[in-house]
Amino acid sequence: MTVTADAVVIGGGVMGTSILYNLVSSGVRNPVLLERTTLGAGSTGRSSGAIRMHYSTEVNAALAWESLKTYENFDEVVGGDVGFLRTGYIVFAPGDVLDGLRHNVELQQRIGIDTQIVSREDAHELAPMFTQYDGEAFAWEPRSGHADPSGTGNAYATRARELGATVLLEAPATSVEIENDRVVAVTTEGERYATDTAVVATGPWSQTFLSGIGIDLPLEATRHEVFLLKRDLADLPFHPGGVDLANMTYFRPEAADLTLVGNGNREENADPNAYNSRPSMDYLEDVWLRLSKRLPGITGADFFTGYAGLYTSTPDLHPVIDRVGSIDGLYICTGFSGHGFKLAPAVGTVMAELVLEGAVSTVDIAPLRMNRFESGETNTTSYEFKVIA
Ligand SMILES: Cc1cc2nc3c(=O)[nH]c(=O)nc-3n(C[C@H](O)[C@H](O)[C@H](O)COP(=O)(O)OP(=O)(O)OC[C@H]3O[C@@H](n4cnc5c(N)ncnc54)[C@H](O)[C@@H]3O)c2cc1C
Repeated sequence: MTVTADAVVIGGGVMGTSILYNLVSSGVRNPVLLERTTLGAGSTGRSSGAIRMHYSTEVNAALAWESLKTYENFDEVVGGDVGFLRTGYIVFAPGDVLDGLRHNVELQQRIGIDTQIVSREDAHELAPMFTQYDGEAFAWEPRSGHADPSGTGNAYATRARELGATVLLEAPATSVEIENDRVVAVTTEGERYATDTAVVATGPWSQTFLSGIGIDLPLEATRHEVFLLKRDLADLPFHPGGVDLANMTYFRPEAADLTLVGNGNREENADPNAYNSRPSMDYLEDVWLRLSKRLPGITGADFFTGYAGLYTSTPDLHPVIDRVGSIDGLYICTGFSGHGFKLAPAVGTVMAELVLEGAVSTVDIAPLRMNRFESGETNTTSYEFKVIA
């Protein structure tokens, strides 16, 4: 059977749902979202949910900054409670990356981001529970925090439905039909959605899905583990979110008495349909020990739970947000590695601009074009991507 849709979004993670909402709220009348299984079934449902602005490139910092404005006022801007909690965010940078820290903070301040390098004394006053080392420096973002990734995807989908979009679960897209270099339909096993616009937001499945329609992008799915520790509130009642570039961990508080901790130094390629989503106990021990070197009050915590999820990464660790030049009506939004959640509101905005106006005005996304890997004009990242989610 053929159904007509003004646009089809493929993938129901935080990107697909944000794009769907932004399309329908910008006037696209009956967009359809196709999700393989359930909303948030991919990286989104396993995301740590950290929201911070500390990036070394303008495009990522600007997308994060624009998105923060939505997260801070999600109920008014979009509708729904996504659990945004402002905790503040601290960056611990050892002596060998001080230039990088200064470069990043200056770049972020030029964009208008509320961040600064703070003195040792101020860092101690803001976050006295952390150990400080000789020679290191500290950046502080007072407005950063975290929110609920699955809740955000659900809120976008709910609001999009209210505005006239259709969200279909258990509906994997099997292909995008292309005739005379333009999109004519997206198909599932049982349906054909006639459309002139298809947006591919399939997270870790993107490499396979795109290669099925003749597009070869250098995308890798890699496995990352996260742990939750239950604090003794007498030892450690609270701590802000942050990243420790000396001991290679990132962390944030969760709910009343949990601490979420992860890091990025044990990447392995993984098959999104068959990866081990369980935590490894030897890695837990390693990460917990490193966290306790910065946050001594965590030593007496209890292990609560852990799990693994998948990043989708490009060689320069920046996403691809682009129109496919050779195929009219085909758009790609993928490759967000460990930082897509915090960018999702702005990504939905820029993708809707690209689809509807053919150009983007909110943030300059030229550095995220898909052909940068062939032309060699990739983004230069710095130390922070090695560890920060
Ligand atoms: C452990 C972990 C921690 C993270 N921590 C943070 C963090 O603290 N802060 C942050 O900003 N980011 C974080 N991230 C990154 C962030 O979660 C991702 O970048 C973001 O969720 C990507 O969203 P997405 O919509 O692109 O992909 P996904 O959430 O993977 O969504 C893709 C969807 O497409 C569906 N799909 C696939 N193929 C098809 C098909 N053929 N048809 C229909 N549907 C299909 C899948 O089922 C899936 O639901 C983390 C990620 C992980 C794994």
